[in-house]
Amino acid sequence: MTRSEENYLKTIFHLGTGQGGAISTNAIAQQMDTKPSSVTDMAKKLADKGLVHYKKYQGVSLTTSGNRTALSIIRKHRLWEVFLVQKLDFTWDEVHEVAEQLEHIKSEKLIDRLDAMLEFPRFDPHGDPIPTKEGKFLERDKELLSVLPLGSQGVCVGVKDSSAPFLKFLDKHGVALGKTIEILEKEDFDHSLLIGMEGKKLRISHQIASNLYVKKNEPWNH
Ligand SMILES: [Zn+2]
Repeated sequence: MTRSEENYLKTIFHLGTGQGGAISTNAIAQQMDTKPSSVTDMAKKLADKGLVHYKKYQGVSLTTSGNRTALSIIRKHRLWEVFLVQKLDFTWDEVHEVAEQLEHIKSEKLIDRLDAMLEFPRFDPHGDPIPTKEGKFLERDKELLSVLPLGSQGVCVGVKDSSAPFLKFLDKHGVALGKTIEILEKEDFDHSLLIGMEGKKLRISHQIASNLYVKKNEPWNH
C-alpha cells in the first residue's frame, strides 16, 4: 500500500468517527486539500483492494479490512508521538508532523517493540486513545470545557485541536493535560470563561474552551 492510500484511509476513518454512514468525496477532498476527481480515482483504487465501499454519488466508507488498516496506521502514529515526547524530548506541538512520516513504516516487529518499550501507553500526548494491536481502544469519558456549567471542575484530558499554534497557546498559559480546571465565571455575551487552574486565574475565549476536553472530577491516570 502506498503512503497516499494510507493517508486516505486515515482521513476516511477520522471523518467517519461517530457518524457512521458514507463520507462524501467532496468532504474527503476538502479535508485532504485535493480535487474531488482525485478522490474519486483513489476511491475506485481502494475499492478494488477491498478497503472501502464506493458507489458513485453514494460516498465512501471503510470495509472491515479498511477499518483495520486505518486503526493500525493511527496506532503507529500515536505510538511514535509518545516515543518522541517521552524519549526524544519533543514538545507536544512538534510531534504530529514527524509522526505523519513515521506512521508509514511497515515493520510490525518495530511497532510491537516500540509499544512494549513505552509500556503499552493507552493515550498519546494529545490525550487521544492509542488502538491496541487488535484495533481496540478506550475512549475516555470526556466533555468539552465549553459545555460544562458554571462551577464545574475537571481534569484536562485532551485537546480537540492539536495544531501547533493552539498547543503553543496552551503552553504559554500553562494549560496542560493532567491539570485541574474550575469554571469560575461564564460570560453570557460571548461565552468566554474565567477559569481557575492551580491557584491561577485565566480568561479564555469560547473557541479555546471548545477545543479542550476535561473529565469531571476524576484523577488523571496516564
Ligand atoms: Zn498526531
